Amino acid sequence: MKLVLASGNAGKLKELQAMLAGLPLQIVPQRELGVGDVAETGLTFVENALIKARHACEATGLPALADDSGLIVDALDGAPGLYSARYAGSPTDDAANNAKLLDALREMPAERRSARFHAVIVLLRHASDPQPLICEGSWEGRIIDTPRGHHGFGYNPVFLDEELGLTAAEMTPEQKNGRSHRAKALQLLLQQLSSQLVR
Ligand code: IMP
Repeated sequence: MKLVLASGNAGKLKELQAMLAGLPLQIVPQRELGVGDVAETGLTFVENALIKARHACEATGLPALADDSGLIVDALDGAPGLYSARYAGSPTDDAANNAKLLDALREMPAERRSARFHAVIVLLRHASDPQPLICEGSWEGRIIDTPRGHHGFGYNPVFLDEELGLTAAEMTPEQKNGRSHRAKALQLLLQQLSSQLVR
């Protein structure tokens, strides 16, 4: 099956492609097909993932896989949440986003810094598919006060997985792809997809 990956985020693309490697799927990033970003006007991760997938389906005529994700910080009432990519303004600037987040949590003690990454991954078979596959995954952690590590993208350097004692940016790609929000959502989606193929 040939699928278009409806994302222009290089970090996400790298993770999704690594996790999908070895499957009987031909994955083509939308940019390679001349498809640009679409305005994410939804009010939930699910809506935005569907908007992105539908846009890629319409533009290419191919089935599309999209991920909408973000960081939810409890002490900030869920911010940056849906607006994680552009928390500190547009265009996306990971360093500025992390600096803004650390500033917002400056006075916050460690026990009030709980947070989670959340990802919604959808598969739309065609632009008017009435029954998209929609899967979600979360990854619990805590926001530390000084960035650590250099791997990956986004909020990785400030997100601590307390079980491993490592930030997402200190993990190898294999470690992160074994426990992340994106990995959990994708795993569920692949299970649903293979059970549908069997039927
Ligand atoms: P989206 O492209 O609107 O889904 O934006 C997702 C944003 O959430 C990214 O730009 C990052 O800022 C953040 N984010 C989502 N997943 C991760 C992750 O795995 N690591 C770090 N940041 C992430």
